[in-house]
Amino acid sequence: MKAQCRKFLGALGDDWPLAAGGTPEFDLHAGKCSRCRIIRDTVAKTIELYRSCWYEKVPAELELRLMTALNARSEECRKPSTGY
Ligand SMILES: [Zn+2]
Repeated sequence: MKAQCRKFLGALGDDWPLAAGGTPEFDLHAGKCSRCRIIRDTVAKTIELYRSCWYEKVPAELELRLMTALNARSEECRKPSTGY
């Protein structure tokens, strides 16, 4: 994984609204990096669903499982050993 990807994905893990709202710097990078673009879009869509009518209906257990899975995936992407 490129150093720039790690930088953006690191910020993504710490501050999810960044993915939903984006920043000019992130958008510029995501425009050139398909991997970060996919992750950003996925997170943004998840947040959108979470905030929509779905919000009230998601059982706490499902929410916890979803957040755990996303955090695990985010951690995986941030590992320097993944190559790329
Ligand atoms: Zn990237």
